[in-house]
Formats: sequence, structure tokens, C-alpha cells
Amino acid sequence: MENIKYFDHAATTALDEKVLQEMMPYLTTNYGNASSIYSIGRKAKEAIMLARMKVAASLNCKINEIYFTSGGSESDNLAIKGIAMANSKYGNHIITSVIEHPAVLNSCKALENMGFKVTYLAVDKLGRIDLSELERSITRKTILISIMFANNEIGTIEPIKQIGNIARKYNVIFHTDAVQAVGNEMINVNDLNIDSLSMSGHKFYGPKGVGALYVRENIPFLRIIDGGHQEKDKRSGTENTAGIVGIGKAIEIATRNLDEYNEKLREFSNFYISEVSNRISNIKINGDSKNKLAGNNNICFAGVDGSKLLHELDKRGICASSGSACSAGLINPSHVLLAIGNSPNLAKGSLRVTFGKENNIEDVKYLVDSLEEIVTKLRKV
Ligand SMILES: *Cc1c(COP(=O)(O)O)cnc(C)c1O
Repeated sequence: MENIKYFDHAATTALDEKVLQEMMPYLTTNYGNASSIYSIGRKAKEAIMLARMKVAASLNCKINEIYFTSGGSESDNLAIKGIAMANSKYGNHIITSVIEHPAVLNSCKALENMGFKVTYLAVDKLGRIDLSELERSITRKTILISIMFANNEIGTIEPIKQIGNIARKYNVIFHTDAVQAVGNEMINVNDLNIDSLSMSGHKFYGPKGVGALYVRENIPFLRIIDGGHQEKDKRSGTENTAGIVGIGKAIEIATRNLDEYNEKLREFSNFYISEVSNRISNIKINGDSKNKLAGNNNICFAGVDGSKLLHELDKRGICASSGSACSAGLINPSHVLLAIGNSPNLAKGSLRVTFGKENNIEDVKYLVDSLEEIVTKLRKV
């Protein structure tokens, strides 16, 4: 696996060495069940509490507003289905956007099958929802707005503060899928009027299979998993102690290094975009250059097949993505790239490059050189 150049940090990230070290005792000697009263059980319980404090601190919320889950998908399901079902006596209308992650879109679809009504807001060509359309969509029956913090495919950051203000004005609960934003953006749920937020450990150098959900105190939501009443009876199952310790450590590291990290990613992105623009013709840069995740870059190469492009890059040891990882293997053009106005053909020639911690400028140069060569070759045949 030497010589892998990894540019797919929006799909997942490598586990940070310091995070692994923090997790190790809970995978080995401290294997106690956090519900047990003897010392190795109590140690697990304390470790979970410490992780909960770290996650809460990073969002500026209360410790008892954090619930640990198995990842971003479960957090989205628990928030959207749980809030909708617990609040159905107030109404049955939900507002979301067309560019959400499948964990949100398919949770909404499931609720539609149960009789809920869902409005899917369109986005403009930069990928941003229209705030006046959001406001116009709210009815007396609207109980939940779910808009992602930042898009996984094109990196566009939604106008979260304004959405939070609108939700507050109409007394509607506001959930945000912040899986791409946590670890990349400073998030204060109180400043932003966010009532519920999803995150996933493996997107910010933590372990896979662990996530967290923040839900503001006093907002009712139903659990999805019944059992032994863990996580204040909102998410049963023996706690994933090592994973929870890992997400706590990962968020602590990410929060501490945020400015420095973003500065580095911005430098790589600026270099990448300007080099590709100068050296390769007939491209379209997707997303909102003014409001985007620093390391997320999505470009369509006209007349190029995205999956062939990925295979050629892979031959050179380069990991990148076409559209989203979740739909990899499918030849359907991305719903996000279509929603921002790309033709299906152009959308099929997209390449998402997401930079991260272990990249350096030499890697980015190698990426651009390889891309120029491959795109020229693919356009000839
Ligand atoms: C990765 C991702 C998810 C899913 O998270 P998992 O932990 O992989 O289940 C949800 N939403 C967004 C925006 C994502 O990028």
C-alpha cells in the first residue's frame, strides 16, 4: 500500500495514530461493559463520559444533548425519523433539499410511505437552497427542516445561520447533516439555532462505525433501536467504548487544529483548481467557490467518462472519487451534479478530489500532471 496518493477524504479518512492509541486500552485490557459495576466497567463508563464532554464542547452544547450511534447514517435516521414520529401530533410536513445524502433522502422517503409529506427544495447552480423558497414552503403543519451543513459531493456550505433563524421564527425543529462539516468547520449550535446535528467519526480521522447525534434538550424524539436503555433510552445496545473514545479524541484534535488545517487545504485546493484550469480545457468547476469546504473540489471534464478517469488514476496510485462513494459502481450521474444544472453527460465526467492531512503539495502536483495526461488520452479515443 506504499505510494498511495489519497485524495478521497470526503469518503473516509485514515485513523489518526493518536486516536488509535487512545482507543487501544478499550480494545484490549479495559474491555468491561460500561453498564457493569466493577472497575473495568466503571472505567469504560468514565471514558464514554469524557468522550461525550469532548463532543459536546466542540459543538458548544450540553453533555446530555449528545447521543452516540453507529455513524452518520444512523444519526440521520434517528434524528429525522425520531423527531418526525415524536412530533406528528403537531403536523406531518418535513422540508429538506434535493442534494442531501441518501441517509437523509431515504429517511424522508420512508416517512413519506408512512403518510408524512416532504418538500424537497431545489438548489441554485452553486448548490445553495433559496431561503425565500424555504420560508414560503413552511406551513402550519411543518415540524422539521433538515438541510445539510455542507454537501459531500461539491463541498457547498449551506446558509445554515439563516436557515436556523427561519426555523426559529416559525418554531420548526432544524436538523442538519453535518457529517462533512464536523472537523472542517467551527460549529456552535447555539449561535446557529441548530436543534439537531449528525456527525460521523471516520470523516475526521476517527474510527468507522461510530457517530454522534446532538439533539437540543426538550426536543422530543423517538428511539429506533429498542433494548437495554443505553444512551438515555434513545439508543440501546452495549456501547462501542473504543469507538466512542476514538470519536472523542478525533474531534478534540480536529477542533484544536482547525484553522491551520483549513489553511493548508485551501492552499492545495487553490493550487489544484488554478493548475487544472490553466492546463486542461473544457472543464466545469462545480460548487460555490466562496462558501465551500476548504479541501473539497469537484470538476467535470467534458467528453470524459468519470469511471475510466478513476481507473486510470488508480493505476497511478491515486485515490479519488466520481460523484459520491455511496453510488460508486453505479453509472447513474450524481443527483447533486444534476440538481446544480449539469447535463447527464457532463455529470458523468466528474471528479471529486478531497484533500486531507497526509497530503502535500508534491502530491497535488503529481495529481495535476496525471490528470492532464489522462484527460488528454481519454479525449482522443
Ligand atoms: C459519509 C456521510 C454520511 C454517512 O455517514 P456514515 O458514517 O458513513 O454512515 C451522511 N451524510 C453525509 C453528508 C456524509 O458525507
